[in-house]
Amino acid sequence: GRIVVAVDGTSGSGKSSTCRGVAERLGLRYLDTGAMFRAVTWWMLEHDVDVHDADAVSARVDHLVLASGTDPRDPTIEVDGQDVSVQIRTDEVTRSVSPVSTVPAVRARLLDLQRQIIAPPGQPSGGIVVEGRDIGSVVWPQAEVKVYVTADPAARAARRAREEGGSDVGATERVLRERDRIDSGRATAPLVQADGAVHLDTTSYTLDEVVSLLVGLVEQ
Ligand code: C5P
Repeated sequence: GRIVVAVDGTSGSGKSSTCRGVAERLGLRYLDTGAMFRAVTWWMLEHDVDVHDADAVSARVDHLVLASGTDPRDPTIEVDGQDVSVQIRTDEVTRSVSPVSTVPAVRARLLDLQRQIIAPPGQPSGGIVVEGRDIGSVVWPQAEVKVYVTADPAARAARRAREEGGSDVGATERVLRERDRIDSGRATAPLVQADGAVHLDTTSYTLDEVVSLLVGLVEQ
């Protein structure tokens, strides 16, 4: 089917693992829009563009070519033909992605790409699970299922620090909270619970439990 599942939520709430799990279980495609913002950010850093200079970022954002692979078992992201799946996860990109994401020209470019991936013009396409911050509110408000995922920041930090092999929990929590503050407080496409979105607090659930809950919502 053509079902679109829009999953928005805070940083580190387990969105990515959850969305991939749901897409695999239901045979849907998967799109990580955060990876697209990270890829643009990586490109700006790589080309020595000052990420805090919105005019410089705007002037360059149409110069790069982005391609997102939508297989939930192997999601890929390419910039100018180079796979940057690993490079977009560095601390430097994570620190710089929020300012880049507030630039309207960046959001406009990615909005266009995201809509083309969700529903390729003139082409049949399978359904898709799309994760981000503004999918249910801006990118695809007509999504059949909308979910707003949150988790307690301390629990998120503990999980993230564990994934990163024992990094400092306090520092991880500060970085997550700061990113949430910027993502929620910005003027363009802030993170909000979209109209019609189901709120899911994942703090006390395992990944499998959250995946099952979401699969249940989609199958309803
Ligand atoms: O999901 P992830 O943490 O990888 O997203 C990285 C950043 O990209 C977020 O902190 C946010 O600033 C931005 N983003 C966004 N809109 C989206 C997805 C991500 O602004 N739909």
